[in-house]
Amino acid sequence: MIRALHEQLKAQEITALSLAEKHLGVIDEKDSEIGAFLTVTAEEALSSAARVDEKIARGEAIDLLEGIPGAIKDNMCAEGIRTTAASKMLDSYIAPFDATVVSNLKQSGATILGKTNMDEFAMGSSTESSAYGKTKNPIDPTRVPGGSSGGSAAAVASGEAVFALGSDTGGSIRQPASFCGIVGLKPTYGRVSRSGLIAMASSLDQIGPFATTVEDAAIVFSRIAGYDPKDVTTTQSNDKRFENYLSGDMSGLRIGIPKEYFSENLDKRVLSVMEKAIERLESLGAILVDISLPYTEYALPAYYIIMPSEVSSNLARFDGIRYGLHVDDRKERMDGNGTLLETYLDSRAYGFGEEVKRRIMLGTYALSAGYYDAYYKKAQAVRELIRQDFSEAFKKVDVIFSPTAPEPAFPFGDKTQDLLKMYLSDIYTVTANLAGIPAISFPIGTVLEKGTSLPVGGQLMGKWFDEETVLRAAHAYETDK
Ligand code: GLN
Repeated sequence: MIRALHEQLKAQEITALSLAEKHLGVIDEKDSEIGAFLTVTAEEALSSAARVDEKIARGEAIDLLEGIPGAIKDNMCAEGIRTTAASKMLDSYIAPFDATVVSNLKQSGATILGKTNMDEFAMGSSTESSAYGKTKNPIDPTRVPGGSSGGSAAAVASGEAVFALGSDTGGSIRQPASFCGIVGLKPTYGRVSRSGLIAMASSLDQIGPFATTVEDAAIVFSRIAGYDPKDVTTTQSNDKRFENYLSGDMSGLRIGIPKEYFSENLDKRVLSVMEKAIERLESLGAILVDISLPYTEYALPAYYIIMPSEVSSNLARFDGIRYGLHVDDRKERMDGNGTLLETYLDSRAYGFGEEVKRRIMLGTYALSAGYYDAYYKKAQAVRELIRQDFSEAFKKVDVIFSPTAPEPAFPFGDKTQDLLKMYLSDIYTVTANLAGIPAISFPIGTVLEKGTSLPVGGQLMGKWFDEETVLRAAHAYETDK
C-alpha cells in the first residue's frame, strides 16, 4: 500500500495534503465508535503534508514514507503534544521533546495523525486498562483489539492510519496485530531506540511498526531502526532498507516448529489454522524441522517476575513531585498538616490504575531484601536458559514458526475478572522479549465465531538482528496467492 501511494504522490495523481485530509476524514467518521486515538494532531499533519507537496512541486525526490499517514502509541513522546501513556498520572503532560522514533518519522516526512490509546503504561493484553476508555476491534466491535498497543492496531485495521508504531514488552505489538488481522513486528532488542519511550520494563521494551502488509512494516521499520547515541543499547543498522530484502522466495528456508507452542492452551480452531499454514510453508519450499524449546513453560512465570520488578523501578519516578500528577487535596494538608509522604501516597493512589498498582507491588516485593535471590535472580537465570534454548534452535533452523496468541480476539470483560487468563494471552510472545530476538505476527487465516470471521496471526521468530529473514519469510507467505 505504501509503495502504491508513493507512486501516486510522485506522479502527482494525489497530493500529500489530500491523503492527510482523507485519513483525518476517516478518523472523524469512525473514531467516535472505534476509539483508537487519544489525540488527533490534525494541524501538524496538514502542515507536514503541505511541505511534502511543496517538495514534490519543486521536483525534489521524496522518500517512500514521505507524506504517508501514520499514528503513534501514546507512550512515545512527541514535542508539544500531550503524551499520557493512557494514565491519569500523565493526564496533563505535554512532551518537551521528540522520542527518537518520532523524530525519525518526521525526518522521513511521514504525516503523523496523532497518538493512540493503549493499556495504562503498556500493561495489559486488551487495552481495557486505559484510563481513557475502550478501543474496539474494527473487525468486531464487541471484542477487544488486543493490547497493550490496541489503539495503534485498531487505527491501522480500520483504515484510519496507513501504519502505526507500537511498543512490545511481552507481545503488545504482535498480539493486537493478530487480533486485528494486520502485520506487527517486534524488532531485535537494541534495533530501535527507546529514547523518549515511556519505559515499562526497560530490558524487554522494543518499538516496532504495525501495517497492513509485510512490505509496509519493513518500510516503516527501516526508517526507525539504527544506532542512537541517546540509547546505549542500540546498534548500527547501516541504514539498511529492509524492504529491499523481500524476494518473495523462501525455498530452502529451514523453519522450526516448536512442540511446546502447540500445548493444551491453544484453541483447537487456531490449531487447525496453524496446521494449514504449516502445509503452505512447506508448499512454498520451506524445510520444516520439528524442534523443542524446553524452557518455554517457565517463560511466563519468569516474565511476570522480571517485568513487574522493572516496572516498580521505572515507575518510582512518578511521585507527584519529580514527575506526574500532583495530588494535594487531603483535608489535613489543606490545614497545613500534610506530609510529603502523603503527597507521594495520594498522587500515586489517584494517578495510577489498578493493574499498574498491582504490578508495582509485585515488583517491589520481588526485589525486596530476602526475596531478591528467590525471585528476581532465579527469574534472570531462567531467562538465560530461554535465551540458550533459542541459540541451540537457531543452529538447526533459520526461523521458528508458532501461533501468535492462543486464541482470537475475545469479548470485552472476558478476562478482567481473572487476570491469570489475561496473562496467558502472552504465552507465545513473551519468549521473544526475554531472549531479545525479532518476531513478526502476520495474518494466516480466520476462525468463524457467531457469524464473524476473526483473524488469526502466525508468528515467525528469527535470529538476533536477522529481521531480513523474518520479513522475507512472512512476505513470501503473504504474497503467495
Ligand atoms: N500483555 C503483556 C503485559 O501485560 C505485554 C505488555 C506489553 O508488551 N507492553 O505485560
